[in-house]
Amino acid sequence: MDNPARAPILQAMTYNSDILIVGGGLNGPALALALAQGGLSVTVIDALPQAARGDDAFDGRSYALALASMRLLRAIGVWDGIAAHSQPILEIIATDGRAGEGPAPFFLDFDHGEIEEGPMGYMLEDRFLRQAFLEAMAASPHITTLSSETVVAQAPDATGVTVTLASGKTLRGRVLVGCDGRRSGVAQRAGIRGTGWDYGQTALVCAIAHEKPHNGIAHQFFMPAGPLAILPLPGNRSSIVWSESHKTAAAIQSLDDAGYLAALRPRFGDFLGEISLAGARFTYPLNLTLANAFAAPRVALLGDAAHGVHPIAGQGLNLGLRDVGALAQVLVEARRRGEDIGAIDVLERYQTWRRFDTTVLAAGTDAINKLFSNDNPLLRLGRDLGMGAVNAVPALRRRFIREAAGLTGELPRLMTGQPL
Ligand SMILES: Cc1cc2nc3c(=O)[nH]c(=O)nc-3n(C[C@H](O)[C@H](O)[C@H](O)COP(=O)(O)OP(=O)(O)OC[C@H]3O[C@@H](n4cnc5c(N)ncnc54)[C@H](O)[C@@H]3O)c2cc1C
Repeated sequence: MDNPARAPILQAMTYNSDILIVGGGLNGPALALALAQGGLSVTVIDALPQAARGDDAFDGRSYALALASMRLLRAIGVWDGIAAHSQPILEIIATDGRAGEGPAPFFLDFDHGEIEEGPMGYMLEDRFLRQAFLEAMAASPHITTLSSETVVAQAPDATGVTVTLASGKTLRGRVLVGCDGRRSGVAQRAGIRGTGWDYGQTALVCAIAHEKPHNGIAHQFFMPAGPLAILPLPGNRSSIVWSESHKTAAAIQSLDDAGYLAALRPRFGDFLGEISLAGARFTYPLNLTLANAFAAPRVALLGDAAHGVHPIAGQGLNLGLRDVGALAQVLVEARRRGEDIGAIDVLERYQTWRRFDTTVLAAGTDAINKLFSNDNPLLRLGRDLGMGAVNAVPALRRRFIREAAGLTGELPRLMTGQPL
C-alpha cells in the first residue's frame, strides 16, 4: 500500500456485512432478523452444519416463551408461521413439595385472567423455532448464513473487526456479536472474563404424554433436590424440566424408560392420570455464567454468551430475546443518527441497558434455587409462609404475573408492538 493514511478508508470499504454474528443457535438468528428489519446487513456464522440445527424431528426440548418474547418473534416475522404449534400458558401454579407427599398447603397460583394482555406466555418445541429461524433468514436479502464454519480469531481495529474462520477464510464487519453460547470464544478472545458457579444439579429434560388435559396450566414443584417443572404442550403432553443432584440425575438417566418413569411418578403425582414418555430424554448440567462486561471494542455479547441462568424460571431464552430487542434498537438508532455503530460508547448503551436487568435476574433465580432446593424445616416454613402471603395479595400476584409475562422493566420497542 503506497499511502498508509488511506488504509482505514480502504478497510472500511470492504465490509462483508455491517454485523458479524458468531452463533446460529436461537439468539443469533433472532438478532440477525431484527437487524435486517432495521436495514443492516448481517452474516451469521455457525460451527454446526445447517441440517443439525434445523432437524424437524421432535426431540423433546421445548421453551416457555414469555408474552414479551412472543411479541418480539412476531415483530421479526417468525411467530405467525409457528403460532399454531404453540400452547398458551394460562396459569402457573408453584408448590412446595416432597416426593410422594403431595402438595404443601401453601402455593402460588398465577392466572392470566388477572392481567389484560392475554396468556403469560407460550410453550413451543425447539424444532419449530429453529426451523422458522432458518427459513426466515434464508428469505432475507440482508442475511448471509455460513454453516460448518468455526470462528477461531478476531481482530478489532479503528474502523471494524476482522474474523478468521478455521477454513482460513476471513470476514470483515463493523461489529462482531458473540451469540456463541455459554463458553463464548468471542468473549474469551475479547478479554471478557466471567463469574459463575456450578449448581451441583443436572436437569433431566423430556416430554411426557398424559391421560388427562393440562388446561394450559404450568406447574412448578419445589423439591428438596431441585425444582420439577411440568409445562403444557399442545395436546395431552407436557415438557418436563426436572433438576436433581448430578449423581441422582446420572443414575435416573441410566435407567430404561420404564425405570425412568417409575422414578418420575412419585414426584409428578397422578393429577394428569397415567404418564408415558413422548420423545427422547436429555440431561443438562446446571451452572450460572455471567460475563463481566457485555461490550468491548467492536464486540457485543448476547444471550447465553452473556448470561447462562438456572432454568428454574424458564428465563434463559427470554433474557436473550430482550438482549436482541435492546441491541437491535441501539444499533439501528445509532445508524439513523449517523454514528459509527461499532463505537464503544454505542455498544456501552446496550451494556448499560441489559447488564443490570440480567444480573438481577441471575441473582434472583440463584436465590430461589438455593431457598427451595433444600429440606431445612425453618427455610421450608419461611418460604411456605412467603408463598401464602404473596398469593393472598392481589397486587403482589399481578406483579408476579407481569414479571412472568416479561412485561416489567424497560422493554425494547420490538416487545411492545412498535417497529424498531
Ligand atoms: C434444561 C434447560 C431448559 C431451558 N428452558 C428454557 C425455557 O423454558 N425458556 C427459556 O427462555 N429458556 C430456557 N432455557 C435456556 C435456553 O435454552 C438458552 O438460553 C438458549 O438456548 C441459548 O441460546 P443461544 O443462541 O444464546 O446459545 P446456543 O443455543 O448455545 O447457541 C450457540 C451457537 O454458537 C455456535 N458456536 C459456538 N462457538 C462457535 C464458533 N467458534 N464458531 C461458530 N459457531 C460457534 C454453536 O454451534 C451454537 O449453535 C433452558 C435451558 C436449559 C439447559
